[in-house]
Amino acid sequence: MTIHSQSGASGASNHDPAEISKFDELARTWWDQEGDFKPLHKINPLRTSYIADRVVLDGSRVLDIGCGGGILTEALAQAGASVTGIDMAPRPLEVARLHRHESGLSIEYLQTTVEDYAADHAGEFDAVTCLEMLEHVPDPGSVISACRQLLKPEGHLFLSTINRNPKSYLLAVVGAEYVLRMLPRGTHDYDKFIKPSELEAWLRAADMQLMDITGMTFNPLTGAYSLGQDTDVNYLVHARPV
Ligand code: SAH
Repeated sequence: MTIHSQSGASGASNHDPAEISKFDELARTWWDQEGDFKPLHKINPLRTSYIADRVVLDGSRVLDIGCGGGILTEALAQAGASVTGIDMAPRPLEVARLHRHESGLSIEYLQTTVEDYAADHAGEFDAVTCLEMLEHVPDPGSVISACRQLLKPEGHLFLSTINRNPKSYLLAVVGAEYVLRMLPRGTHDYDKFIKPSELEAWLRAADMQLMDITGMTFNPLTGAYSLGQDTDVNYLVHARPV
């Protein structure tokens, strides 16, 4: 098994400036339902209910890591959680702050890495979410161990990413970026995709237990996403401290 996280990147340096500027450049289209982030808008109800089925959001304290323009962050706040969103890209954060005013939600947005944030906020959160970010980070294992630090002992961690195999290459890179043009070319780097076994090894190393893994599949004929057992491409994970 390849654990391709041992880049030596850690703490404040655990972000890839090239990845961050990619998201910076796309920031203004973040809330366009038909724009570059259309897939995130389409999966948002599914992943929000996946989370809400496993943790009581109303009144809970939630950290959304790699929040971007705030699509998931706002849904969590809408469900009654008190949410902090963090990201390393300044422009998506600006977009998120503007959109927060339109929605009238109270959300705190900060530019920081999770490792830096964990240094001052250990044990504060009922739930931590980190969706569609791990495949853009030099050392995902370091992110997961910072997530563990941030959680209360009874807390919940939610992750999502893309599996690494020939099918995910075909569907998530060739299909989504080149054939269907659902995402801008270059959005994803196949080598950084993460196998569930690798994610589970990082969770175990961080004293966390995998509670559930659920696939998220796209039907190109109907344009709809659904949750199910097929974890070959996109998948969601629920984990808890041991
Ligand atoms: N989680 C959001 C956005 C996913 S896009 C959603 O699913 O709706 C990935 C986001 O992760 C981008 O906003 C990018 O700027 C951010 N990101 C990438 N690497 C990061 C890092 N190391 N620390 C914080 N944010 C990061």
